[in-house]
Amino acid sequence: MHAPAVVTEAFRPASRLAAIGVSEILRITGLANELKRLGRDVIVLGAGEPDFDTPQHVKDAAARAMAAGATKYTALDGTPELKAAIAAKFRRDNGLAFSPGEITVSTGAKQVLYNAMMASLDPGDEVIIPTPFWVSYADIVLIAGGRPVLVPCTQENGFRLTAEDLERAITPRTRWLMLNSPSNPSGAAYSEADYRPLLDVLLRHPHVWLMVDDMYEHIVYDDFRFVTPAAIEPALGGRTLTVNGVSKAYAMTGWRIGYGAGPAALIRAMAVVQSQSTSCPSSISQAAAVAALDGPQDIVAERRRSFQARRDLVVSALDAIDGITCRVPEGAFYTFASCAGLIGRKTPDGAVIDTDAGFAEYLLRSVGVAVVPGSAFGLAPYFRISYATSTAELEEACRRIADAVTGLV
Ligand code: PLP
Repeated sequence: MHAPAVVTEAFRPASRLAAIGVSEILRITGLANELKRLGRDVIVLGAGEPDFDTPQHVKDAAARAMAAGATKYTALDGTPELKAAIAAKFRRDNGLAFSPGEITVSTGAKQVLYNAMMASLDPGDEVIIPTPFWVSYADIVLIAGGRPVLVPCTQENGFRLTAEDLERAITPRTRWLMLNSPSNPSGAAYSEADYRPLLDVLLRHPHVWLMVDDMYEHIVYDDFRFVTPAAIEPALGGRTLTVNGVSKAYAMTGWRIGYGAGPAALIRAMAVVQSQSTSCPSSISQAAAVAALDGPQDIVAERRRSFQARRDLVVSALDAIDGITCRVPEGAFYTFASCAGLIGRKTPDGAVIDTDAGFAEYLLRSVGVAVVPGSAFGLAPYFRISYATSTAELEEACRRIADAVTGLV
């Protein structure tokens, strides 16, 4: 006797995923991996994480926490110890005072953003996102049922949003403005003077809340002075969510700890979302994050100096290439260079470079360098390089890019 045939219907994704395509980053990374598998020597400049290791004292704190039995569920949105360390960090670095009920801890800053959007957006609510932007912003808004309102920012304006463009983008449906300084992907940062006109616009529109992503706070160069909007304009404190985390500053991307601070009512609503998705963040990672925030901070400055030397190397090498212009970023570990001067040129095979994605693909196929096209971040024609990799690799990559551009006619 044969068992009856089992009929299985094809998987049908939820309609909320329909607007979320496969990102250009994944496409380029997939192609790079495929070439590597075929034995090609490929330099991937796409990583969004420091190449340094987590500091030893942080690892030691995690080991001690495990040995002491900190291996169980913790308070839903952060242990009292970690919330105290976060409050101390905001006091020390930003001059901001938050009580434990105004602080939330999640599995990475990404989850903080996700919780905030899920907790606040109704279908069709609008979120203003200046471009170029970190890809997840728009997708998180879409998953939460909102509508991303993308506002292009020009290279001439340092990839920063202007007050006029913000004013024009605000409607009665606007719930949030999302700002990220220093920015992934542009490396651009807002000084107090840059922020002021934007905050003045927000003061005139009480229904618009502000989400600021300060993930790269500690990775700023030259004499740039980092500031965060809630410290500049206390009158906006009642509708500002300040997001930060340990991933970039302490090379802890794999530990998955991010945090946010803002009005208690929002923080409580975010905890409801978290309670039915991941529950508390990892107990061991939370103990490690306490050590990172409370421990010696000199390693952060040391690594910043190293990143600055690499930034200088990449910016000057790219800027020297005919057809490429590269603005000097104030922070993060990315350059966002324009390839406008290369659009319309032909590859040795006779193909025309007509987009930044086409240029990125040409770089990968011709000289084995993987960069991410600006269109993946909502602004073309640019390409992003992550310089969180060794100086030797960066020098070689820049040499190869120059060679590839020389090959264009
Ligand atoms: N915000 C920005 C601008 C980022 O670039 C990233 C990571 O790439 C994150 C937030 C998320 O960081 P995590 O979830 O590791 O804390």
